[in-house]
Amino acid sequence: MASNIEIKYIEKSTIDSVDFSNLPFGSVFSDHMLECDFVNGEWKIPVIKPYTPITLDPSSKIFHYGQSIFEGMKAYKDSDENTMLFRPLENFKRLNKSAERLMIPAIPEAIFMDGLKKLLEIDNQWIPKNEGSSLYIRPFMFASGNGFHASPANAYKFVICTAPSGAYFAGKIKVLIEEKYARAANGGVGFAKAGGNYAAQFYPTQLAIEKGYNQVIWTDDNTHQYIEEAGAMNIFIRINNTLITSPTSDRILDGVTRKSIIQMSKDLNIDIEVRKISVSEVVAAAQNGSLKEMFGAGTAAVISPISGFGYQNKDYDLPELTKPYASLLKKAITDLQTNKTEDPYGWRVML
Ligand SMILES: *Cc1c(COP(=O)(O)O)cnc(C)c1O
Repeated sequence: MASNIEIKYIEKSTIDSVDFSNLPFGSVFSDHMLECDFVNGEWKIPVIKPYTPITLDPSSKIFHYGQSIFEGMKAYKDSDENTMLFRPLENFKRLNKSAERLMIPAIPEAIFMDGLKKLLEIDNQWIPKNEGSSLYIRPFMFASGNGFHASPANAYKFVICTAPSGAYFAGKIKVLIEEKYARAANGGVGFAKAGGNYAAQFYPTQLAIEKGYNQVIWTDDNTHQYIEEAGAMNIFIRINNTLITSPTSDRILDGVTRKSIIQMSKDLNIDIEVRKISVSEVVAAAQNGSLKEMFGAGTAAVISPISGFGYQNKDYDLPELTKPYASLLKKAITDLQTNKTEDPYGWRVML
């Protein structure tokens, strides 16, 4: 281990109270968490301790100015009880990219990676083995320092909690193409996994739910003519046999699932294009029958198929395909993540 870690074990594990055959997503928590404080200009020794509430001063800047970022990743167990992560350094690097934009100090790789590995070693029994289940991992950082002055805090916390989880979504979702609200703007924080981005999505999403949709398709903030993301997922659209996804930018999160799908599509001989997708192109494709699939991609749901979309008071249905790219790609990526296939990319990290 490159870094020191202080460990305080739980007195009595709560694992016996968990029904691993019927897990919700992200709402049952493992015995331990990792916590590390940044004070006086440096990261202190990380501590692994029982999962417990965090006590903060009411003037902590997280409450007032929202300096808060997170990551989402998963640990998997194969049938031989080997434990593995999927491209964890991508999450580490992205957390620090988010940190830079929110004026949060960067977390050293040794604390992130060695801390995570140690936590998974201690709570190894919490990593589900059932098909489709995994241990959802939530690393996050926030301003714990005090004061009502609107400036960056002088103290921060880095925390990792984990939650054994079943599959995220069941069933297809119906989406509404957004024409008024935006999740991100040029020069803003859309590329960062900043807590506030999600807070700002809830209201427009609720309006869409009231109209009978499950989720919002975000368009560019300036013209609302180009498709950018699907809720808190990246988006893929299949027109005829070509899969298209929007290029990353200031406004679009650079998803690990997205870039893995781009690479795997090439290797599965699926024609893939990374380019801007206009709403009018998608509507025209739906009208002439060339729109075959739409799906969201992200760590939690992996791939979330879309059954249809609403735009300007009209609904458009997508066809039911027997062999959709969504299923093909979901199987290819989850088989790789769970050690069922070869990993020509070096993405799997065995623990
Ligand atoms: C986390 C997230 C994604 C997906 O990223 P992954 O690395 O694939 O999990 C896509 N869009 C938004 C807005 C996100 O927050």
